[in-house]
Amino acid sequence: MESLRELYKVGRGPSSSHTMGPERICKEVLNNYDGDSYQVTLYGSLSFTGLGHLTDKIIKETLPNTEVIFSKELKLEHPNTMDVVIYKNNEIIGKERYYSTGGGSILRKGDEEKPKVHVYPHNNFQEIKDYCVINDLTLYDYVYKFEDPDFKDYLREIWKVMKNTINQGLHQEGYLPGLLEVKRKAKSLLYDQKNKVSIELRLLSAYAYATSEVNASGGTVVTAPTCGASGVLPSLLYFLKDIRKYSDERIIDGLATAGIIGNIIKHNASISGAEAGCQAEVGTACAMAAAAYSELENGKLETIEYAAEIALEHHLGLTCDPISGYVQIPCIERNAVAAVRAMNAGELATLLIETRLVSFDTVVEAMKETGKDLLESYKETSIGGLAKFYKKKVS
Ligand code: SF4
Repeated sequence: MESLRELYKVGRGPSSSHTMGPERICKEVLNNYDGDSYQVTLYGSLSFTGLGHLTDKIIKETLPNTEVIFSKELKLEHPNTMDVVIYKNNEIIGKERYYSTGGGSILRKGDEEKPKVHVYPHNNFQEIKDYCVINDLTLYDYVYKFEDPDFKDYLREIWKVMKNTINQGLHQEGYLPGLLEVKRKAKSLLYDQKNKVSIELRLLSAYAYATSEVNASGGTVVTAPTCGASGVLPSLLYFLKDIRKYSDERIIDGLATAGIIGNIIKHNASISGAEAGCQAEVGTACAMAAAAYSELENGKLETIEYAAEIALEHHLGLTCDPISGYVQIPCIERNAVAAVRAMNAGELATLLIETRLVSFDTVVEAMKETGKDLLESYKETSIGGLAKFYKKKVS
């Protein structure tokens, strides 16, 4: 498995695969070619939800003099395909095809066989667990053992960005950009004293909304594991710091444990909504957050595994159907629901650990196959599910 630096990335929302990925592609093209104008064609999910995800905006900002074409072709070798034609003095000097593979990662056509840099020698949870038991390691010890010596500083920076994003979101009011007229709710959730709900639900929701609203506005977030699902893990970590008084250093340990869970899913299944639906994005985020919660509150390997397993299992089959392509409905509310669910999964795992039957690796396998079986209309194309029926009501 690759470094967690490839999982946790800082970038601009609203979508790691639809904004961060294309931005990285454009930067790579700028580095590799001396062009003066460009034509970009978006296919599949990139095209179907590109306007709502602000894909054309980030491309035009990064690559000057670019014409962006939204193709209606849906079935390609990869659901997030992007072609770039590079011109110099009106002559074509290059053509490239790229794939935005999820969480801001990209792949150039032709580089599929290039070996990835694997810093972890293990491939799934069982292998990692066996290694940790033999060597008496926690999951975060395991991460620090195989990452580079500066990695903890990297996580400190990631945590700083997560906190800044939440603080920014908690102070904003008004409406999110786009045609849906979605009101920002983080601040009102934070200060709502009139309704009788649990403090956990209200605060976790406020923090999750804060990050997801910053993301939906094209602000800076951390992919955890993606921009669309970036509200889940930070909100639970922020809650643990703010209300349960964990130190920043302990939160960093939780972030490391969450990261290895996300990495296992990324390595063995997918973290991309365009590839496997929202189970791969918010489902993964929920598993990561549940593992972090269990790491700090319980600390036993078996319980952490069970917490992550519960969290992912109950997202199996979850579709990606953002209305009009905006990462707003159902995405923002879904992040808040998943944050609460992650805490519930962590607590349920503590209560029921003796009766557990299903392993984390089994659920990851099931998620991968479920993702393959989902129709394209439920994989970030905004032509099925809620996106289809909500449009009917307003038209
Ligand atoms: S529905 Fe889920 S996967 Fe799809 S854009 Fe929203 S958060 Fe991402």
